[in-house]
Amino acid sequence: MSEKYDIGIIGAGPAGYTAAFQARKQGLSVVLFEKDKVGGVCLNRGCIPTKAILHSAEVFEEMKSAQELGIFADNLRVDYEKVVERKDKIVEKLRKWLELSLKNAKVTVINAEAKLLSKNSDFTEIQADNTVYECGKVIFAGGSSPRDFENLRFDHEFVLSSDDILELKKLPESILIIGSGAIGIEWARIFSAFNVKVSVVEVAEHLLPNADIEVSKRVERIFKSKGIKTYLKTSVEKIENKVVTLSSGETLTAECVLLAAGRVPANCDYDTVLGDACGEIQLAHFAIKQAISEISKVEFDKNLVPSVVYGCPEIAWVGKREQDLENYEKSYILVSALGKSHCDNCTEGFIKILSCNGKILGAHIVSKEASSLIQQIIIAMQNNIAINDLKKVCFAHPTFSEGIFESIIN
Ligand SMILES: Cc1cc2nc3c(=O)[nH]c(=O)nc-3n(C[C@H](O)[C@H](O)[C@H](O)COP(=O)(O)OP(=O)(O)OC[C@H]3O[C@@H](n4cnc5c(N)ncnc54)[C@H](O)[C@@H]3O)c2cc1C
Repeated sequence: MSEKYDIGIIGAGPAGYTAAFQARKQGLSVVLFEKDKVGGVCLNRGCIPTKAILHSAEVFEEMKSAQELGIFADNLRVDYEKVVERKDKIVEKLRKWLELSLKNAKVTVINAEAKLLSKNSDFTEIQADNTVYECGKVIFAGGSSPRDFENLRFDHEFVLSSDDILELKKLPESILIIGSGAIGIEWARIFSAFNVKVSVVEVAEHLLPNADIEVSKRVERIFKSKGIKTYLKTSVEKIENKVVTLSSGETLTAECVLLAAGRVPANCDYDTVLGDACGEIQLAHFAIKQAISEISKVEFDKNLVPSVVYGCPEIAWVGKREQDLENYEKSYILVSALGKSHCDNCTEGFIKILSCNGKILGAHIVSKEASSLIQQIIIAMQNNIAINDLKKVCFAHPTFSEGIFESIIN
């Protein structure tokens, strides 16, 4: 006996559950397979849990300098077990909400690993938990997993993955982070805020190698000011007996190592693949837009997908980087020129907009609220709003967003 569905979706992360909701809106019958927990990496081991812990770190960091704001608190300390408990509660609450939403939308959720049985021109057979599902169309949204290397394996005790690090119940005294992409940078900021001794090893010439060069250099300056030690143009040769040997020959020790050097897309043999499994842009909002585009045919521009690195201050960018361009104009303002940054005690950073003959080509922001500021530039770029049109917009004062206006009006 087999069950029949219009569409079968493998993986209930952002790509899979978004595709499921969109398909149900169109009246299609949907079976969604999840071998672990609904919400995928994003909700259970990625975006949400890290940002929950990061928020605790940010509050602690802010409280350390609260005296400057006229606020005094005695015996400031961190109870990391409580930090983790709060993170777990947030994840659980959001997961329950997602499970309920899927139930209300009448998506059939099967909590089991899905395997491809057979494909023919009319339907595909998927097997899960000894049942065969006959699906008119199958979408694979199986995500990705942390990458390790032959000479650098996760042992889940000393060499940790981004999954393992979420399970720590106690803060280490020191940590060595390998890789300075978004995950490495965010955890460096979290641990540093909690007074853990942090070192970062990056094989590229600069931290955040995918960012605009000025952004990378600014992050390096911020890390230096916080006492985070960085080793650039350096790789890890080996780890033996908790001693890390760098390509320079130097050896380092730390209580643990976070290996954050990319993610491997899940292997599959399906025609339609969405989200991290594509190995294209491994971000939750990209997975969501892809799913909406696949099912509901609402197009989006892959060149206008924002990149955000959270922490204090936030880092966000879109479009071309300065090192990619030859002929361009640069609009620029330091965040410290904005009244609001002084009121909020957050003067670090800049807003940079790159354009050519008035057409915006890219924007790079290091600032409090950068994750929201970048959205304003994306809306402008998406709608061909040129620099001169943007000048006509009235921005509220005092805000960080008036920095966009201030950068282009000078
Ligand atoms: C530490 C960390 C922080 C991150 N922070 C951010 C952030 O701030 N913003 C952002 O945009 N992105 C962030 N990401 C990336 C984001 O989590 C991913 O881009 C997103 O989860 C991808 O969604 P997805 O649906 O493609 O896959 P996933 O979320 O990985 O979901 C795939 C699901 O498929 C299931 N699955 C796989 N194979 C099968 C099978 N055969 N049968 C049944 N189920 C299967 C898996 O169990 C998994 O639940 C972060 C990632 C990490 C690791």
